[in-house]
Amino acid sequence: MTFKELKISEPVLRALAEKGYTKPTPIQEQGIPVVLNNKDLLGCAQTGTGKTAVFAIPIIQHLAQQTNFGKKREIKALVLTPTRELAIQISDSFKDYSKHTSVAHGLVFGGVNQQPQTVMLKKGVDVLIATPGRLLDLINQGFIKLNAITHFVLDEADHMLDMGFIHDINRILPLLPKEKQTMFFSATMPASIAALAKSLLRNPVRISIEPKKPVIDTIDQYVYYIDQEGKKDLLLHLVKQAKSKSILVFSRTKHGSDRIARILCKAGIGSDSIHSNKSQAARQRALADFKSGKIRVMIATDIASRGIDIQELPMVINYDLPNVPEIYVHRIGRTGRAGHAGTALSLCAKNEMGLLKDIQKTIGFTIPVVR
Ligand code: AMP
Repeated sequence: MTFKELKISEPVLRALAEKGYTKPTPIQEQGIPVVLNNKDLLGCAQTGTGKTAVFAIPIIQHLAQQTNFGKKREIKALVLTPTRELAIQISDSFKDYSKHTSVAHGLVFGGVNQQPQTVMLKKGVDVLIATPGRLLDLINQGFIKLNAITHFVLDEADHMLDMGFIHDINRILPLLPKEKQTMFFSATMPASIAALAKSLLRNPVRISIEPKKPVIDTIDQYVYYIDQEGKKDLLLHLVKQAKSKSILVFSRTKHGSDRIARILCKAGIGSDSIHSNKSQAARQRALADFKSGKIRVMIATDIASRGIDIQELPMVINYDLPNVPEIYVHRIGRTGRAGHAGTALSLCAKNEMGLLKDIQKTIGFTIPVVR
């Protein structure tokens, strides 16, 4: 299947070719025709599957084809997403795919000065990507109107609920016109999410993409048994041993991630932490420094790590084991992408043995023990 066969318009095809994308991912093959056909979509898929293009490309195409397009800049498509990092990533995708069209998009999220955002809104955009809290603030101040929305995307619905955004969402939904196309994405579908989806979608087409399997096949996984107090020194040793490799370290707590970053910095290893207590500017800077190689080690909590999209990350270290096995799979999936070799090391203290057992049951194999 090619992008052309999916009936993607010429300007977008050109943009995809310039990105170096040669063919659609499975969710794009299934989802793009559905959305191009004006159908509501229920997508069960996580970040990393290429799901952004499933809504971004048809939205760009639909808007560019509207007969009165360009006459009046008003928000016609709204993408709601739980984290700032994800919002930025989605905005980057719109920027890439719409570069040969005149569709304008904008981005609003909290934790930063709102003034540049209101300037952008006054100029006008066709597509708005937003996190719920800031969106509501700006609506209440009269900077945003949602009455012209024809396309609505609710992204990562499960994380929206986990992060306590349900009240914000319930305030936003009634402001949207009844007549619109809705695309709903969630990696998991517990009853509460299914109910929310049902209330929002009209005769949706459901597509489901399993988390990528090769994750497990292309990643060398090892575990170290170590008491909690010994983890610092072991981490230092492992980081030094990895020479120049970029490493993403996962910590269960914000406080822990700061502490680990300090220890590594003290030892002369360029590192920084990323978590939700940090300002948006600090997070973006840390991420940019990590991507450019200016710092070698990034320590992240699970929520902050969502949306970190780094090609060719060679190593992931679990300083703490996650308490949900699926998170382990998600964490180590950051390495070993696109056929590159990856290594995932886990430091397991005595009280984490139960977690390790659950993880091994989920991945269906016993992780080799180094020591
Ligand atoms: P997403 O799940 O939308 O966050 O996409 C995950 C990553 O895959 C992003 O870095 C995209 O830029 C990239 N991507 C999306 N579609 C394709 C494609 N068809 N071929 C190659 N890379 C892609």
